[in-house]
Amino acid sequence: MTDIRDDVRAGFAETFGYEASGIWSAPGRVNLIGEHTDYNEGFVLPFAIDRRTIIALGLREDRLMRIASEFADELVELDLSELTPENLTGWSAYPLGVAWALGEHGADLAAVPGFDIFVDSDVPVGAGLSSSAAIESAVALALNDVWALGLDRRTLARVGQLAENRAVGAPTGIMDQSASMLGETDSAVFLDCRSLDSEIIDLGFAAAGLEIVIIDTGVNHSHATGGYGERRASCELGAKLLGVTALRDVAVADLDQARTILDDVTFRRVRHIVTENQRVLDTVRVLREQGAGAIGDLLDASHQSMRDDFEISVPELDLAVETARMNGAIGARMTGGGFGGAAIALVPVDAISRLQVAIDGAFAEHGYGQPDTFVVSAAKGAGRD
Ligand code: ADP
Ligand code: MG
Repeated sequence: MTDIRDDVRAGFAETFGYEASGIWSAPGRVNLIGEHTDYNEGFVLPFAIDRRTIIALGLREDRLMRIASEFADELVELDLSELTPENLTGWSAYPLGVAWALGEHGADLAAVPGFDIFVDSDVPVGAGLSSSAAIESAVALALNDVWALGLDRRTLARVGQLAENRAVGAPTGIMDQSASMLGETDSAVFLDCRSLDSEIIDLGFAAAGLEIVIIDTGVNHSHATGGYGERRASCELGAKLLGVTALRDVAVADLDQARTILDDVTFRRVRHIVTENQRVLDTVRVLREQGAGAIGDLLDASHQSMRDDFEISVPELDLAVETARMNGAIGARMTGGGFGGAAIALVPVDAISRLQVAIDGAFAEHGYGQPDTFVVSAAKGAGRD
């Protein structure tokens, strides 16, 4: 981590010809459980990970915004007077979209000074670990500081979401930014996506001798836009036919009756959301009452529900989950929006290397590309370094 911080300082100086005035960073996230529940106004349980996007920033005397990233081979420039969502494209829509979204939350964009930003990151891009929320949160926190806006972290999470919704054009919920802004060491963020209330939940992985292993299948999830939209539409249809505002309002006990009202596909989509919501609540309760060693079955059930009812898994994710379970993991599931990306496995520390070897072997045997397997721990949210 120290390395990246030095790199980002050096990258800033090399790109802009002067020393940055500060360094800020924000983590990616993993969702422990609660998939596709966010836009159904339900519950999620993500945690911030020890992979971060780091930015160096210097304020300018004029009104120019300049931004460069290790990720991209270009320096993007825009004057603050031209900052509209429509004027933003490509990767810079994430950070500059945040500057615009701060204007929607009270920053006086006609008066604030311009800035230079250099970005570096060890959050894998497009793996479902939310490199997007990491860059948004780092920039939101930095501009909140240097523009002296005094916005709180929950508001800054909404700023990141607004940037992603309006400047990038991705219809995502508030989960990723909340995890990145609010995360704490060895803890998860229990978020109610209706009220936006959140609570820090002790994970106790370290005490239980457990780690979370990420298995990034390398299957790109960016082509998933169609599938994601379809699932959202099914959920909306289900809620409408059941006469509720959102599927959050349907209980597991209501499912028998829902089956008589809905067609088979819509019913199975609804059943995933309703049972998944309950699994988030159960996971929080089990963590509190019994500890992390007892949540494995809930992770497994979540994967089965996404595979069979919500139908958003792919063979690579199923193989990763099955292989992990047969090689020491106490629970495993795909994580993120689906159609690719990563799986997570909850693994006793002494089983990790066996599990990694087994995953590599299984993928080779099936002729799949080699997955990237690594351990993450639950880390602190965005901060000034
Ligand atoms: P995920 O959030 O799962 O990693 P997304 O598609 O939501 O995937 O966001 C990835 C996009 O965010 C990248 O394609 C890029 O446009 C932007 N991005 C993320 N990290 C960086 C970075 N370090 N520098 C520049 N752009 C980044
Ligand atoms: Mg993202």
